[in-house]
Amino acid sequence: MKKKVALGIDIGGTNTTLGLADEQGQCFDDESFPTWAHQSFARFFERLAEKIDAALARSLQEYELIGIGVAAPAGNYYQGTIDAPSNFCWGKVELVRLMTEHYHLPVAITNDANAAALGEMMYGQAKGVQNFIVVTLGTGLGSGIVVNGNLIYGHGGLAGELGHTIIEPGGRQCGCGRHGCLEMYVSSRGICRTVFELLAQRLDDSELRQISFNELTAEKVYASAQRDDPLARAAFEYTGRILGRALADAVACFGPEVIILFGGLAKAGPLLFAPVQRHFEDNLLHVYKGKVKIIPSIVSKCSIAVLGACALIQKEIEKTNRAV
Ligand SMILES: [Zn+2]
Repeated sequence: MKKKVALGIDIGGTNTTLGLADEQGQCFDDESFPTWAHQSFARFFERLAEKIDAALARSLQEYELIGIGVAAPAGNYYQGTIDAPSNFCWGKVELVRLMTEHYHLPVAITNDANAAALGEMMYGQAKGVQNFIVVTLGTGLGSGIVVNGNLIYGHGGLAGELGHTIIEPGGRQCGCGRHGCLEMYVSSRGICRTVFELLAQRLDDSELRQISFNELTAEKVYASAQRDDPLARAAFEYTGRILGRALADAVACFGPEVIILFGGLAKAGPLLFAPVQRHFEDNLLHVYKGKVKIIPSIVSKCSIAVLGACALIQKEIEKTNRAV
C-alpha cells in the first residue's frame, strides 16, 4: 500500500514554498520559487501548477496524495479564498475552488501564521499545549492564536492578527491603510524603517550610513549588529521593546502558556530575544510574570507553514471521515 501524504503550499510575499508531508510530519521534496506578487494571479497559478505537477510526477509512484493545504496571507479558512492581501496585486481569489477543480482532491486554506500554529501544534514546540501564540516575523508580522486547543478564526475567518493592532497612534503608514500597526515596526521591513529613523536622529558612526534605503535589508542590520555596530544594536533593542510590550498585551487577552517566534527576524537569536524578554516581563500583568515562555520555533526542515498547511488538510480530512 502506498504511503499517504499531503501537499502543503506556503504562498509568501517573496517566495512560495511547497512540499509533501506524511502523517508524522516528515516533510520532503520541498522547493521554493519567487511569488512575483506584482504579476497577475493567473500567471502565478500557471507557475504553481507546473511545480505541483512536477512534484507529483516525481512522488506518486511511491505515495498517495490525500489533499492539498494552502497557507497564504489573508487566506480565509471559511470562504476558501485569498482576500486581497496588502502586498499582492491579486484582489480576491477563490483559490480552494480553483484548486479543487484542477486537482479533484480536498483542498483547504488558512493564513500563513495560522498554518504555522497548526504546524507547531502537530509537530513542533506546541505539541500537547492547549494555549499558545505563534508569531511569524517575515516581511510582515503574522500571528496564529490557539485558545483551549482551537485556532481562533473569528466571525469572518480572519481573526488573530496581532500585526494589525495599532501600537503607535498616528505612527508609520501600514499597507492596510492605517497608521501605527505593529508589523510596521516588528518585521524585516519594520526594522529597516527603524534604522533610517535612528540614522536621522543620531550622529554616531554606523556602517549602516553607507547603505541606501532600497538596499538595506534585515539581514544587513543583523550582520552589522553582530559586528557590534551601535546603531544596528539600537534598532534591535527598539524592535524588541515594541514586540515585548505587544506580546505582554496579547497575554492579557489570550492567556497563553508559551509564545513561539518564527521567521527571519527570529533567527537573530539573543539580539532580538533578550530585549523582547526584558520588555515582555516588565509589561506583563502581575499575575503572569515569570509564567509565560517566549521561545524560537525549532522546525527547520521545510517551512513550518508548509507543514502546517499539510496538517490543516489532514485535520480537514479526519473531520470529514468522522462525519461520514
Ligand atoms: Zn496595518
